[in-house]
Amino acid sequence: MSIPNTLSQTPTLSEKHSGIPERLLDKAQKAKSLIYETRTQFEAPSRQRGVAIPQGISKVKFFEVLNELRYEIGEEWVELNDKELKGGWYMEHPNTHDMMNILDAEELVASAVVYPGDVEDVQKIVGWANTWRIPLFPISMGRNFGYGGAAPRVRGSVTVDLGKRMNKILSIDPDDYTCLVEPGVSYYALYEELKKRGYDHMWIDTPDLGGGSVLGNALDRGVGYTPYGDHWSVHSGLEVVLPTGEVLRTGMGALPGSNTWQTFPYGFGPYSDGIFSQSNFGIVTKMGMALMPNPGGYESFMYTFPKEEDLAPLMEIIRPLRISNILENVAQLRHCLQTIAVRGQPRSKYFSGRGPIPEEIIHEEMKKTPLGDCTWVYYGMSYGPPHIRKYKLDVVHQEFLKIPGARRIDPSTLPADEYFWSRDKIAAGIPDLEELLWVNWMPNGSHIAFSPIAPIRGIDATKLYSLARKRHDEAGIDLMPAFCVGLREMHLIVEIVFDSSDISMRRKADRCLRDMIDDAAKLGYGEYRTHLVLMDQVAGTYNWNGNALMRFNERLKDALDPNGILAPGRCGIWPERYRGRGWEIGTGEGGGSEGDGVKPDWKERL
Ligand code: ADP
Repeated sequence: MSIPNTLSQTPTLSEKHSGIPERLLDKAQKAKSLIYETRTQFEAPSRQRGVAIPQGISKVKFFEVLNELRYEIGEEWVELNDKELKGGWYMEHPNTHDMMNILDAEELVASAVVYPGDVEDVQKIVGWANTWRIPLFPISMGRNFGYGGAAPRVRGSVTVDLGKRMNKILSIDPDDYTCLVEPGVSYYALYEELKKRGYDHMWIDTPDLGGGSVLGNALDRGVGYTPYGDHWSVHSGLEVVLPTGEVLRTGMGALPGSNTWQTFPYGFGPYSDGIFSQSNFGIVTKMGMALMPNPGGYESFMYTFPKEEDLAPLMEIIRPLRISNILENVAQLRHCLQTIAVRGQPRSKYFSGRGPIPEEIIHEEMKKTPLGDCTWVYYGMSYGPPHIRKYKLDVVHQEFLKIPGARRIDPSTLPADEYFWSRDKIAAGIPDLEELLWVNWMPNGSHIAFSPIAPIRGIDATKLYSLARKRHDEAGIDLMPAFCVGLREMHLIVEIVFDSSDISMRRKADRCLRDMIDDAAKLGYGEYRTHLVLMDQVAGTYNWNGNALMRFNERLKDALDPNGILAPGRCGIWPERYRGRGWEIGTGEGGGSEGDGVKPDWKERL
């Protein structure tokens, strides 16, 4: 396909820490041109409200104290966000807001961005924020799409973009199979470095897209698709700048001279790492991560299942196979609509009516694909030398074929550009770029996820699927569920694709998500991760024993961050300074993200 001349080249890894590896440049250009073909909004809306000034400080004072920050960190490393709120795409994304905004574009916006060069800079930034009570929002790569991108929760926060200057792979240990990274190391970068050093005996684990940071993704408890797919569970050791400016190292890192920081995660005493993931208790500046031994061979496989009702019996088959590691990786069971959407064409190519795309059209389209007609597609991977794989694959085959009409798709029949081959790479720890193509389903395609956790059981899969189906039908949204099977649980990931320039579609998506969260909570399901605008609601569902967990989190927050400067409201944890002032975004309120001021203190009288 021809690439329009107007599309500039995607920055490469050699040019930029957030760039694309050369091996994927061609793919990136094609993806970019497909995305821009579906775009109808090219101009960023003009800034309606001027620079977003954080509450609790006057505009004049804010500009004045920003100069202090410039003085501390260096003029060129502090940027005022007085520019348009530009869109972009996955590889060239803004760091001041969420380009996939579900609220009004002006809501979750940074006032400025600061780029620390080292840990001391991070400490200085934190010190400055404490002096002037300025909210900070740390990002590593800022590609947390579907969950808020780079946007801060509190409007006017200063974004601390750690990735731009702190992006070193500090060590890769070829004997222990571990690495130690700074915030700006992407999966792409880590993978390319292993290749460059000739470390073929070690694999990384990557999410669907490789442009996120190894550190940020693990902190938000993201997943990948090799046996090391639970990123948080395979990290070992953090270095953290606390909201008051002290630096600590967790686990064995607390023992000066230790050489087991990356191999023994616990150290001595309470295991403190947990409080730094999905929280606002510290800025992580280093993280250790285990690397997987090359299993000596791998083989992807794919099965299709004909009917919607196959979901429940299939889950019963998957559970024992997964727990006993016959199914070895974080595997995916996807609805076939995703197979259509991931080809990167807009929905309008298939259906231009209102409401969800009709079943008949989906099945007609599926018939034209190499997979043939089906409802569910299972993507899996078997690891090890051929004779070991054969044993496991034979068991899987025998079990999966118990579903009437189940079919194994022979990979040798699939064309080179079939999505299966992207899953094949990802499950072998080779970061790719294919997955983002389903975002083109809508013009100005954006996505936001509903991500509940459930047991791997037929009854649970059915309940969640039914509630998602009901709420999608009510909202007139296409349902694209993917069940990601962990070891003893599964993450259901339902990505809603919406046009971010269409207010009514944004509202419908928001309503649909909020209803699903409430419905799921009533049935005992909670989300493993969520978008910034849904954090208060999701945190509110984890309310056992009179909100005991949130009260504990608030106590920690107030002790660790007495001035409430670090990512206020992230994961629903509000510091004392903000509490009781209506900062939460709740069900049905829509619209605004800001509360009514912050607790006054002496600084405001200046
Ligand atoms: P990615 O690197 O995958 O693009 P982000 O940088 O968007 O991820 O970060 C994901 C989430 O984790 C954000 O909400 C962010 O606030 C938090 N986060 C990212 N990096 C850090 C860090 N170094 N310290 C503390 N929190 C972080």
